[in-house]
Amino acid sequence: MAGDFDTRVIELVMALRNAGIRDKSVLAAMERTPRNLFVPESFADQAFENRPLPIDCGQTISQPLIVAMMTQALEVTDRCKVLEVGTGSGYQAAVLARLCRRVYTIERYRTLSQEAVKRFEAVRLTNIVTRIGDGTKGWPEQAPFDRIIVTAAAPVRPDAILGQLREGGICVAPVQNGAVQTLYRYRLEAGGIHEESLLDVRFVPLVEGMARSL
Ligand code: SAH
Repeated sequence: MAGDFDTRVIELVMALRNAGIRDKSVLAAMERTPRNLFVPESFADQAFENRPLPIDCGQTISQPLIVAMMTQALEVTDRCKVLEVGTGSGYQAAVLARLCRRVYTIERYRTLSQEAVKRFEAVRLTNIVTRIGDGTKGWPEQAPFDRIIVTAAAPVRPDAILGQLREGGICVAPVQNGAVQTLYRYRLEAGGIHEESLLDVRFVPLVEGMARSL
C-alpha cells in the first residue's frame, strides 16, 4: 500500500493543483470527501488515483480531475441551489454539498440512488436531496436552480434541463459532438443562453426514461 488514505488524499489534491485546479474551496471540498467510501470496496485502494472507476449498474465514478474541473467551472457559492443529473456513486454530489446550500440529485437506477443515500449519511451530509427518476426532464418541482451539473453525456444540448436554470445561472454538461463529447458551460443571461466549450471528455450516456431493472 502506498501510504494511508490521509497521505493519498493529500497527494491527489496536489496532483489536482498541478493539473491547474486553482479554486481553493474546490480543492478543500475534495480533500474532505473520502472517495474510498464512494467506490466498490474492491477498488478502495485505487480511490485516490486520478482515474475513473467502475460502480454498480455498469456506470462509472468520474475521474477526480474531471470532478474538480466541473465543480470549478460551476462557480458555486454557499447560497446556490444545485441540481445534479446522474447521482451515480454520489461523489460529485458530496463534493458540491460542501460548497453550496443544497444539492438535488437525480438518478435513474434505484440501486445507485439508494447506495448514495447511505454514503451521504455515513459522511454526515444532510443538505443533499435524492430522487429516483429520469433526469432528462430535470426536476420541475424544485426548479429553478442556480446551478445545474449533468454528469452523463446528452446526445444534443439538454434544453429541457437548461430551462430549469435561474437567470444568471450556470449549467455544466457534457454533450455528444460528432465522434467526441465536449464539456459545455452554459450561462443563462438576459439575452439568452451563452455557451462555451471547455474540453473534450468521456462520460456514460444520458439515457432517457427510468432504468428497467435495478
Ligand atoms: N456524478 C456521478 C457520475 C455517475 S455516471 C458520480 O459522482 O459518481 C452518470 C450517471 O448518470 C449514471 O449513474 C447513470 O445511471 C446516470 N444517468 C444516465 N441517464 C440518466 C437520466 N436520464 N436520469 C438520471 N440519471 C441518469
